[in-house]
Amino acid sequence: MDVTENLARERQLKLAAKVFDNASEGILITDADAQIIAVNPAFCKITGVAPESALGRVSRMFKSSLDSNEFNRDMLMSLEVNGHWQGELTDRRASGEHYPAWLSISAVREECGAISNYVGVFSDITGRKEAEERLYFLANHDPLTRLPNRSLLHQNLSHALARAKLGAQQLAVLFIDLDRFKTINDTLGHDAGDRLLQEVSARLKCCARSSDTIARLGGDEFTVIMEAFPDSQTVVNVAERILAVLSQPVSLQMRDYYVTCSIGIALYPNDGQDAQTLLKNADVAMYRAKELGKNNYQFFSKEMNAAAFEHLLMENSLRQALDKGEFEIHYQAQVELQQNRIIGLEALVRWRHPEHGLISPTRFIPLAEENGLIVPLGEWVLEQACLQARIWQNLGFPPIRMAVNLSPRQFQPHGLIKAVRRALDRSDLDPQWLELEITEGMIMRNAEEAIQIMSELKKMGVQLAIDDFGAGYSSLYNLKRFPIHNLKIDRTFIEGLPKDGDDAAIAEVIIAMAKKLGLKVIAEGVENNAQLAFLREQGCDLVQGFMFSKPLPGDEVEQLFRNLGIYQDEYQAVLPLSVQTNYTEVV
Ligand code: C2E
Ligand code: MG
Ligand code: MG
Repeated sequence: MDVTENLARERQLKLAAKVFDNASEGILITDADAQIIAVNPAFCKITGVAPESALGRVSRMFKSSLDSNEFNRDMLMSLEVNGHWQGELTDRRASGEHYPAWLSISAVREECGAISNYVGVFSDITGRKEAEERLYFLANHDPLTRLPNRSLLHQNLSHALARAKLGAQQLAVLFIDLDRFKTINDTLGHDAGDRLLQEVSARLKCCARSSDTIARLGGDEFTVIMEAFPDSQTVVNVAERILAVLSQPVSLQMRDYYVTCSIGIALYPNDGQDAQTLLKNADVAMYRAKELGKNNYQFFSKEMNAAAFEHLLMENSLRQALDKGEFEIHYQAQVELQQNRIIGLEALVRWRHPEHGLISPTRFIPLAEENGLIVPLGEWVLEQACLQARIWQNLGFPPIRMAVNLSPRQFQPHGLIKAVRRALDRSDLDPQWLELEITEGMIMRNAEEAIQIMSELKKMGVQLAIDDFGAGYSSLYNLKRFPIHNLKIDRTFIEGLPKDGDDAAIAEVIIAMAKKLGLKVIAEGVENNAQLAFLREQGCDLVQGFMFSKPLPGDEVEQLFRNLGIYQDEYQAVLPLSVQTNYTEVV
């Protein structure tokens, strides 16, 4: 008998058995009724089920879910039609532990076409799943705090919005920004900053429900999404809890530090219908909270948006305004009371905006201070004012003192001295005609450094004045230590003169004590005769205010000088000064 064919088949069978035994995938074979007739060692290894317990039982692989007895119809259909099915499912090991499996099933047919067996090949894909999940986690979370990042926040927010729409419910977006994070980061280093952020995120988690999303947007910005709350009082409670837990001290490098935060809140549907608008408006409200002194929360309101828009608009055009030459200086007369003459001018900057007209410094100086433009702008004002003073001297007007305001950011040891020197050199102005106005805050912050800067300026021959005196928190006694010449009483104390008893008492004391200290006193914002009479009586040296002259553009100042006949003898001025002007100021 020729057994070649038999031998070949036997070899084939042996090979198949080897593959069956050694495959790393679990393999099980069932009959047409899904009863298991064979399993390989990998099957036992993966499932933890011994062969004798598996054989004869109905395979779970045809079930639509782990705990149901229903057969997966799609799978059976596919096996019937294509003879094949594959997909992912969750299986259970003998220990009861669930694991993800990738399963592929093939139907084996007899020659007549009827299905005789099913062969299932499956593998444990826990490792792959974990890797996928790790990747997903990394892509959607902040590695430092392990909180959802911006991308996951957006996903969660749009899902939450969809739910809120469906259920006709409110939703709140809280935008949280730490108040002095930069200082801690700068002074204690980034490691301490990182630890602080981790501590903050742990505390935030305690304030919200587990269903709420807490995300870190980057830097020191966090966001909380609150869903399905009964009323806005709940949101208030959460905001207050956040303020309270964050204000507890944080221990860094063996010391306690205090950080606070500012919170802005926007509500769906009132403050925005989509994720972007809600986040933007919560941000706007957060800025408002900062403006209101930090460590508080603010609900968004429509007026805030207008203010924020203006802010943005200004900031963008403000940056270019200096290069475009849109700033100009107006000058306000300072009148010496004993002799009734103008002895000084204060240089006050304005911004001539191409669309918005003349803009007051009270609106753009704070912005310029925020974005740093104040330094080049301040230097420009200083130089222009010195040049103008010199030009008027060259034209034959009697010399007049030019007062220039300084911002805290300009009040630096090296920058300021250099800038003043340069302005004096370029204009060729004698330093005695320049006066610099500084505020109490500037000198109290770092008194030693301030004394050093001021002494240097004094040595150069420049005059120094304290502006807005009384509005800050320094004392007259402290002023003794500073080399200043003039004191400008803040306008708020002049306003109520002479009727307001408090104002009158304060003005009286400031004048009397300044005299004792050998300082000259200037009253700002003098608008009427009653104020003037009171100030005269108290012995105030100089006055400045609308009663004499508003701040005027250079050419109108020249006109004023000519009207007063300043060309002829001294600078005698007839009080009140008057000048025909078609200039109106836009504030
Ligand atoms: P300031 O230095 O105290 O200037 C006096 C302000 O009072 C000026 O406002 C002036 O127009 C206003 N004023 C004068 N007389 C009267 C009056 O009789 N009644 C009333 N109601 N107001 C009067 P302005 O020009 O709007 O300047 C506001 C502030 O902007 C200044 O206060 C100063 O702090 C700042 N500023 C102006 N120019 C500059 C500058 O070049 N650099 C810096 N750093 N700050 C400047
Ligand atoms: Mg001033
Ligand atoms: Mg002032």
